[in-house]
Amino acid sequence: MVEAVQIPVEHIKESKLPQVDFKNLGFGKYFSDHMLEADYVNGEWTSVRIRPYQELGFLPALSVLHYSQTIFEGQKAHKDENGNVHIFRPHENWKRLNRSAERMAMPQVPEEIFVEGMKQLIELDKDFIPSGYDESLYIRPFLFATEETLGVKAANAYKFMIITGPVGAYFAEPARIYVEEKFTRAAPGGTGAVKTGGNYAASLLSSAEARKQGYDQVLWMDAIEHKYVQEVGAMNIFFMIGDKIITPDLSDGTILAGITRMSLIEMFKDAGHKVEERRISIDEIIEAYKSGQLKEVFGSGTAATISHVKELKYKDFVMELDVDAMTVSSQMKKELLDYKENKSGDKYGWLERV
Ligand SMILES: *Cc1c(COP(=O)(O)O)cnc(C)c1O
Repeated sequence: MVEAVQIPVEHIKESKLPQVDFKNLGFGKYFSDHMLEADYVNGEWTSVRIRPYQELGFLPALSVLHYSQTIFEGQKAHKDENGNVHIFRPHENWKRLNRSAERMAMPQVPEEIFVEGMKQLIELDKDFIPSGYDESLYIRPFLFATEETLGVKAANAYKFMIITGPVGAYFAEPARIYVEEKFTRAAPGGTGAVKTGGNYAASLLSSAEARKQGYDQVLWMDAIEHKYVQEVGAMNIFFMIGDKIITPDLSDGTILAGITRMSLIEMFKDAGHKVEERRISIDEIIEAYKSGQLKEVFGSGTAATISHVKELKYKDFVMELDVDAMTVSSQMKKELLDYKENKSGDKYGWLERV
């Protein structure tokens, strides 16, 4: 049940809007005027409020700093040609946050705080939403432990927040990636499917090493056999082999269930493509490359929608791919972007009007 609660607002005294360079938005550089905040204490959510984006006070024993109970979401809202604002599939992000919360022994966040609170926050700061193609308001909901204790246990106090900020169009250069052979990202029974800071912390050394070698990202392999492909950085991965679009399945809980991934699978199927969610080994990818059947490789995620891969390296074997020939995913990237910008009539009911 979603109750339309009006959340108390403390308005900013002087808007930071004039400081935003809308011609140079980048990503994660600007923050809107307000933030949403709610505290979980004594088993219930209290004091849901919106106030100016500002510092938070905390003491050194803040439990998240020590034991990392922290989870987040990443979403976008777009302004359409008539100036109406839509959030893409916010209920899916809400459900995923609560799946993450369950695995991390954190409390569930009610839908009226997550979805309704998000809508009220965005309505308040809607002047921050850019209107150029592929420009959007990035939305970052997050939940973290706030108990002041060094005791190792699930905390008894948490804070849920939403901050937002305008982001530019994502002109991604096609990526060069290699298969990571030393480190792994996630093992069955672990937290690979959870959107938590710890997964990222553990991946940063690999990313730094990749960059040193002139690569953009690493392709993670399964932690047991080092044979099956999992995902890339903050993106799920797809391979088009012959006329089949293949992406690793989510069954062993090691891969983040991307909402872009889920949306693309549905749209590819509706466009008449064959889509397979299953285990895919690096050997199968190499064989397909050698026989000329590896047609397209791309990552999917909220930030870039679809990001093409132009080089994939495994040990000493380099696969060079022709991104200009990746017409199926290029076409679908445009379709999904148009969809988010409310240009195609919301046939799946994925847009939530603010
Ligand atoms: C967020 C994320 C994705 C992509 O998910 P979307 O919902 O499509 O943005 C993929 N992998 C990881 C590890 C992520 O954190």
